[in-house]
Amino acid sequence: MAAEDHKVVIAGVPVATEVWDEVRSPWDGSLVGRVPRCGPDEVEAACAGAAAALARGDLPAWRRAEVLDAAAVLLAERTEEVARLVAAEAGKPLRDARGEVARCLDTLRYSAVEARTLSGDLLPLEGSRSAAGRLGFSKRVPLGVVAAITPFNFPLNLVAHKVGPAIAAGCPVVLKPAEQAPLSALALVGLLVEAGLPADWISVVTGDGPGAGVPLVAHPVPAMVSFTGSVPAGKAIAAAAPDKKVALELGSTSPVIVEPDADVAFVVERIRQGGFSYAGQSCISTQRVLVHESVRDELTSALVEAVGSLVVGDPLDEATEVGPLISAEETERVRTWLAEAADAGARVLVGGGEGPGGAITPAVVVDVPPDASLQRREVFGPVVTVTGYADLDEAIALANDSDFGLHCGLFTRDLDTVLAAFEALDFGGVIVNDVPTFRADQQPYGGTKDSGITREGPAYTVREMTALRTAVIRGV
Ligand code: NAD
Repeated sequence: MAAEDHKVVIAGVPVATEVWDEVRSPWDGSLVGRVPRCGPDEVEAACAGAAAALARGDLPAWRRAEVLDAAAVLLAERTEEVARLVAAEAGKPLRDARGEVARCLDTLRYSAVEARTLSGDLLPLEGSRSAAGRLGFSKRVPLGVVAAITPFNFPLNLVAHKVGPAIAAGCPVVLKPAEQAPLSALALVGLLVEAGLPADWISVVTGDGPGAGVPLVAHPVPAMVSFTGSVPAGKAIAAAAPDKKVALELGSTSPVIVEPDADVAFVVERIRQGGFSYAGQSCISTQRVLVHESVRDELTSALVEAVGSLVVGDPLDEATEVGPLISAEETERVRTWLAEAADAGARVLVGGGEGPGGAITPAVVVDVPPDASLQRREVFGPVVTVTGYADLDEAIALANDSDFGLHCGLFTRDLDTVLAAFEALDFGGVIVNDVPTFRADQQPYGGTKDSGITREGPAYTVREMTALRTAVIRGV
């Protein structure tokens, strides 16, 4: 893939800036492309374009649905090309990058369904004496321009999770993609415009958080900021935008509870996937394995063996299951947390060393103190901890003992256990007989506590991005 300079398209106009930022492969540092370093001027132009598109309101719902469906067709045709771009700029193993493109197709198609079916309510005014005789209904109207700010780890599909529903809702978008991996976002936006979206409906401002994100959040035009990323950035954005609607999808330390009746071999296979795909750089990566004492040893030794067999290497190699972390700084951070845990008495049973290209080899760690960073903070690396528990109450207490609450997994065949745990677990989602890493577009996806305040998934996002307008008609 030849490295190119990628202008951004702002309000329909291709834009270059004096300063360009390089996008480099996390694997070998090779240049993948360059993007403009946007700032307040580009944000201003993008917001003006989006405001004009909103005022024109020239895109009926049926047309928005057609655009989203057509974009999905174009993306399906270019799956391999886009997957290779995701793999190159984000260091995501090709097999996972292809999976991300497949998920993105779903997101676009479900967003098209929302564009076609979004409706309001018929109000039952006959039910009250004072309102009887009137006809009341409400419809959903676009909230306004949406500022979408996205992280590096799903540089294609997390963009689609904001852009797809915004288009469905009738909201023009100004997108600020992650500085580490902006090219997949540019590719997706290009496909949407090729599919018929008027170019000023979506502008992209590339650059970093302080340079491009901060002025976008502060700009008066966006009615809503839809953010996915880290807790500090999410909190800073919420504080900087008190007058806007803010959607926050943040981090996690996702636990999985393994009850004594679980099929250990199956559980191990799922954790091998859920804890280590994309080297653990997923917001719902399986981080804390909580296992009943009676099966702890069996599970731990099987997990160590399974994790030891993961293939670490070049993301563009078909065989690779685990690649590098996004940056040398992130690699260093995870190494430091591993060392700190070891100093506090933890034992690294497998991995934690240096693999090909400086990648961290996938690690399983036991005897980790509850206050260690590996338990309390989001690792975002190829590391799972294993902790034993005596009974379900203790398992639930351990799972809930976190600043986060995105997804929790639970392996059991017992229905009473499922129902009791579902009521007691303080999480946005409880995933039964699978790892917390499972997500489908049909779910209301989001968390409690520091994991966020809103729910994402086309049907839910489109509601966040619209407001109900009510008509009450009195016959005369
Ligand atoms: P990050 O917070 O560093 O950056 C995310 C985006 O915010 C980037 O585009 C960045 O430039 C921008 N940004 C940073 N500070 C900003 C500010 N003050 N104002 C405006 N924009 C700002 O996150 P990251 O490292 O790219 O992604 C990893 C994090 O994202 C992890 O914590 C992970 O759990 C989280 N995440 C959450 C979900 C979810 O759906 N809950 C999904 C994926 C990732």
